[in-house]
Amino acid sequence: DEGLARDLYQLMEEAARHYQTQLRQHADKQKVDEYLALRGLSKEVVEDFGIGFAPDGWDGLLGRYRTNPDAQDKLLTGGMLIENDGGKRYDRFRDRLMFPIRDRRGRVIGFGGRVLGDGTPKYLNSPETPIFHKGQELYGLYELKQKHRDPERVMIVEGYMDVVALAQFGIDYAVASLGTSTTAEQFQLLLRSAKEVICCYDGDKAGYEAAWRAMETALPLLKPGDKVTFLFLPQGEDPDSQVRKEGKEAFEMRIDNALPLADYLFDTLSQKYGTDKGNLAKQAIALIEKIKDTVLANLLLENLAHKLGMNSSEDLRKKLGLTSMSTGAKAMAKKGLKGRGTPLRLA
Ligand code: ATP
Ligand code: MN
Ligand code: MN
Ligand code: MN
Repeated sequence: DEGLARDLYQLMEEAARHYQTQLRQHADKQKVDEYLALRGLSKEVVEDFGIGFAPDGWDGLLGRYRTNPDAQDKLLTGGMLIENDGGKRYDRFRDRLMFPIRDRRGRVIGFGGRVLGDGTPKYLNSPETPIFHKGQELYGLYELKQKHRDPERVMIVEGYMDVVALAQFGIDYAVASLGTSTTAEQFQLLLRSAKEVICCYDGDKAGYEAAWRAMETALPLLKPGDKVTFLFLPQGEDPDSQVRKEGKEAFEMRIDNALPLADYLFDTLSQKYGTDKGNLAKQAIALIEKIKDTVLANLLLENLAHKLGMNSSEDLRKKLGLTSMSTGAKAMAKKGLKGRGTPLRLA
């Protein structure tokens, strides 16, 4: 319902302003300043990203709408309030640093809130609402587009802090998938935003798993000419900690040397299957089959054949007992028609 959405956008904007004001004026502002200093966040970047502060207390935001039950209902729908079993309402975000999440048109649609210290949960995010669909948004994309109308490259990272820290160091083309792993919709958005997509997840187990899932998610969407690379950080580091450690130039060197998707795919499988070439080929082909674009799939198949020490993908097919495709079948497959007797829908 458009009327509801319009009201929600307005209330979310008001909430963002409220948190920004609290960050500047609240009695507990020293606590926030100390945390910002601890994380090394500059005034400029706090302003650029509209970062705010939700003070401790149950009704900091709610209290502004005491005499407006309609607005309260909508704040509940917008995920800013929680209602308990007794019907009592209170602020969802309390005693947290607040990152407003904007859609591509700059409208505030949700928030991420970080505890100022070691409490749990570390991050609290807005729930799904009529205007906030996590899997379809990228944190920082609006801010990036404000700086670059037509960015050359875009980097996908895990967290709010990573986006903000990188921007502060002049790497202002990072965006974050919101807590969950990067979805196909988010990847589509990334590929539409720039020619080159760099995936840079944390240097920990969760990060490595996220990278592999991202590769699998990207495969069906790839077209020839797309450049997707993977940047692996030293163990225990994330983009935020790494860029603070070594600065912009060194970090950008890592970006320039990031591993192309095909190399990442083959290197990882080679490490996993070692000398078991048959299994390696099988696993690689299972992944290559995910690619919808036939030209690109063939390129990767050729690439695989060479890595396995064969002259061409024809040799690879023979070796695996796959019948080779006639030129006619290839042409038909290219047009999206189903050729008969094609064991692989790659060519
Ligand atoms: P920080 O540097 O502030 O500790 P981070 O971004 O490095 O935060 P990670 O633990 O690496 O934190 O998590 C990456 C992202 O995953 C976070 O930015 C957040 O979006 C999401 N996340 C982490 N912990 C939680 C949580 N408990 N609940 C929901 N989302 C979370
Ligand atoms: Mn992590
Ligand atoms: Mn971090
Ligand atoms: Mn992290």
